[in-house]
Amino acid sequence: MTKSAASKNLVLVGGGHSHAIVLELFAKKASPDANIILISDVDRAPYSGMLPGHVAGFYRFEECHIDLKPLCDAAGAKFYRDRAIGLDLENNRLLCENGDPIPFDVLSLDIGSTPAKSSVPGVEEYTTPAKPVPNFLQHWQNILDRVSKHPEEPIAIAIVGGGAGGVELAFNAQTRIQTILERADRPPSNLTIHLFHRGSQLMEGHAPLVRTTLEQILRKRGIDVHLNENVTAIEPGCTIRCESGLEVESDRVFWVTQASSPDWIANSKLATSDGGFILIGETLQSLSHPHIFAAGDIATMQSHPRPKAGVFAVRQGQPLFENLRNSLQNKALKTYIPQKNLLALIGTGDERAIASRGNIGFGPCGLLWKWKDRIDRDFMQRFEIDNPTP
Ligand SMILES: Cc1cc2nc3c(=O)[nH]c(=O)nc-3n(C[C@H](O)[C@H](O)[C@H](O)COP(=O)(O)OP(=O)(O)OC[C@H]3O[C@@H](n4cnc5c(N)ncnc54)[C@H](O)[C@@H]3O)c2cc1C
Repeated sequence: MTKSAASKNLVLVGGGHSHAIVLELFAKKASPDANIILISDVDRAPYSGMLPGHVAGFYRFEECHIDLKPLCDAAGAKFYRDRAIGLDLENNRLLCENGDPIPFDVLSLDIGSTPAKSSVPGVEEYTTPAKPVPNFLQHWQNILDRVSKHPEEPIAIAIVGGGAGGVELAFNAQTRIQTILERADRPPSNLTIHLFHRGSQLMEGHAPLVRTTLEQILRKRGIDVHLNENVTAIEPGCTIRCESGLEVESDRVFWVTQASSPDWIANSKLATSDGGFILIGETLQSLSHPHIFAAGDIATMQSHPRPKAGVFAVRQGQPLFENLRNSLQNKALKTYIPQKNLLALIGTGDERAIASRGNIGFGPCGLLWKWKDRIDRDFMQRFEIDNPTP
């Protein structure tokens, strides 16, 4: 469709899970008379469901990253590689790190979250946050290179945060490094993994059976689980100090704590929650600025708050697409209420997975992993474009 000069500007910020689906649906169902622009700080957006499996070496980079440019081409959208850094809400413009401000009629934000900044001394200098993902993967690759070159040298990895992200990272990091050690004929004992968690049990919000089973498996595999430990400092050389007096030396510390939102959102004058996330209603519109939509981790539904997890971002994709389209066409918006308990399939790094939904848990077993693998591969297949432009 040729866009007229009077066409509205729809600006999508971030190629997160919800926006990837929005673009896929625009590609399938033809975009309305609107100039659609995607601003993303990466060309290839990671898919969270397969990321732990990528750490383990089960999936190649391309298998768990969505190539945004061909997706935009198929959707009739322009792709700008840039980082959003602010909002000028008086003039409806998005401010970017490199390019000129971008005017919008309708804006949608799906920029994810990063582990919360911490006042713990040494965190900024000596730890690697699990997000942004490209930075995390670079550091992970450095570790793999080191172990491959010097498998004879013992290595200790510390993970701070015993939520799903930290637990999955512990399992999958161990799998990958032990594979390298095994190939080099070195004992698995050359690797030590420490997992620190402030609470008395891992994986808050999951079924009790899932929480205890995962802890048992971690311990059985020789991962040092430190519960009720409040990390109070990270010192040069990646030494971790805890309030209890526990002191652990490591070669690398991964910081996988609670999700947080960037400062530019808090400074934008959009209505935000206590944690700085954009408050949205059931139509996925900002509570303060109805021409602005938000989805995924960066948004908090005021009446239906849910955990910050990729599955919720995925589920918001279709309703976000419909409401963006309706909004551009001045049609009534639909309401969307997320399910209370979504099924989570958590990989244990050994091609098995455990199922968790509400108070019910099951596994781990290989069949659940196969099922998860199928779901994830089918999801990624949605974004395979037949004729990508060079
Ligand atoms: C280690 C770890 C493992 C996890 N494993 C799982 C799992 O197995 N299953 C699960 O459901 N959840 C998992 N999660 C949580 C999951 O990663 C998030 O809930 C999910 O990615 C949120 O999706 P999203 O669409 O909100 O944003 P994201 O997937 O984070 O995408 C946001 C995109 O926006 C881009 N972006 C960010 N800021 C800007 C900006 N200013 N300008 C332009 N572009 C920007 C980013 O580069 C990124 O591509 C995990 C999290 C961690 C830390």
